[in-house]
Amino acid sequence: MSEFDYDLFVIGGGSGGVRAARISAGYGAKVAIAEEYRLGGTCVIRGCVPKKLLVYASRFRDDFEDAAGFGWSLSEPKFDWPTLIANKDAEITRLEGLYRQGLERAGVTILQARAELADAHTVTVQPGNRRITAKTILVATGGRPVVPQVPGAGHAITSNEAFHLDELPKSILIVGGGYIAVEFAGIFSGLGVDTTLLYRGPKILRGFDEELRDHLTEELFKRRIDVVCNAEIASIDKGWTHTKVTLKDGSTVETGKVMYATGRSPNTKGLGLEAASVKLGEKGEIIVDPYSRSSVENIYAVGDVTDRVNLTPVAIREGHAFADTVFGNKPTAVNHDLVPTAVFSTPEIGTVGLPEAVARERYPKLDVYKARFKPLKHTLSGRDERMFMKLLVDGDSGKVVGCHILGDDAAEIVQMAAIAMRLGATKADFDATMALHPSAAEELVTMREKWVPPAAVPAARAQKK
Ligand SMILES: Cc1cc2nc3c(=O)[nH]c(=O)nc-3n(C[C@H](O)[C@H](O)[C@H](O)COP(=O)(O)OP(=O)(O)OC[C@H]3O[C@@H](n4cnc5c(N)ncnc54)[C@H](O)[C@@H]3O)c2cc1C
Repeated sequence: MSEFDYDLFVIGGGSGGVRAARISAGYGAKVAIAEEYRLGGTCVIRGCVPKKLLVYASRFRDDFEDAAGFGWSLSEPKFDWPTLIANKDAEITRLEGLYRQGLERAGVTILQARAELADAHTVTVQPGNRRITAKTILVATGGRPVVPQVPGAGHAITSNEAFHLDELPKSILIVGGGYIAVEFAGIFSGLGVDTTLLYRGPKILRGFDEELRDHLTEELFKRRIDVVCNAEIASIDKGWTHTKVTLKDGSTVETGKVMYATGRSPNTKGLGLEAASVKLGEKGEIIVDPYSRSSVENIYAVGDVTDRVNLTPVAIREGHAFADTVFGNKPTAVNHDLVPTAVFSTPEIGTVGLPEAVARERYPKLDVYKARFKPLKHTLSGRDERMFMKLLVDGDSGKVVGCHILGDDAAEIVQMAAIAMRLGATKADFDATMALHPSAAEELVTMREKWVPPAAVPAARAQKK
């Protein structure tokens, strides 16, 4: 008999933890998982899934407006927030049930509990103060929203609460320039809320390709989302009807609600990691090796708590690789290159590979292909919206090293482009691929002319134009 209660104890029943628990149990390990809130974690309960449902809801406004150009006439559409939230909640509960079923079928013991490390092989679970031992411990506790220390910040919400508002405010001030801030700006604006996006940096979506950032900002303005950069909140005062926000430059804004989407930090506080001597990084993230092993031999960590690439498919892949490595006798390191990602703004962004600025540093000979055009649909809808596509190609090998798209279905298109890029596709491979017509995606295989920076345009050519 083993000297431990379990072979594996997983702390956190989110994307990474659930996958790791299920696959490890499949390899014959005796597994327990503790989840303090709801199985499914951030992605299912208050992240990707509910967010995408709200994004869908917010885009019907465009559909109703666009339909007129195609001959449809509609009576005034009405929107009911409580119906949307109730339907969204029912779907989340269904998904949570599927997660539970999957774990139960695999023979995993599920504890509705908070778990903390007492030492390298022992966890304490609450309620009950039970001590449980395990040969291997996996920390998959995810992250939590960070709210700056500003007087009155307690009056603001984060994405966690945004999914459960009793009613829609008339106006909202969203603070932050990352993808969650931008996505919620699109959601609230699409649902009819007067929306301001306030960001302390010079431009939203730091880390994304510059042109995506510029073109999206332009599209957000067209949608009457007020994007205010280089601005920070000094204090928040809650009145009877409105919230008064004072900015650091002394100006004030009145709004119905303030939402902070100012980043997330790894959930490592109060976990007892110090008791087990697990090393943490500057942001409190668990430092791990390519096999997700921490500084302590039998303690591993996957997902957002390690702050590598904070996305659901990455957490799942890391959880799976952990199980293969530790219980499946197949040491597997996760490759974090070429992770496709989306910003579900409206219009949306899909991107994979390097932004142009980074690609230029890495590849001395970089060829850029780009197109900006009015999508066919908007020739009749009349919507003033442009799609943008950009391919970055290493001029020496011909390999496509970056693919950036802004516009309808960008996420769907980029998922497919990521397969080609993973296989090492060159620009010549893209060009040899038959176009699918009429589609927006065909632009990716029909861009023939390298982009030439304006300064490099020969004078004669410039004059002819
Ligand atoms: C608003 C929002 C939108 C997002 N949209 C996307 C998207 O579109 N696409 C995408 O890929 N990613 C998206 N993400 C990111 C994605 O949700 C995370 O990358 C993913 O959930 C990370 O999985 P995880 O397993 O590391 O952690 P989580 O899913 O956060 O799971 C951690 C779990 O651990 C539990 N827990 C924490 N501490 C303890 C403890 N001591 N004891 C027991 N349980 C504990 C928590 O309750 C939680 O359920 C979004 C995130 C947010 C917040």
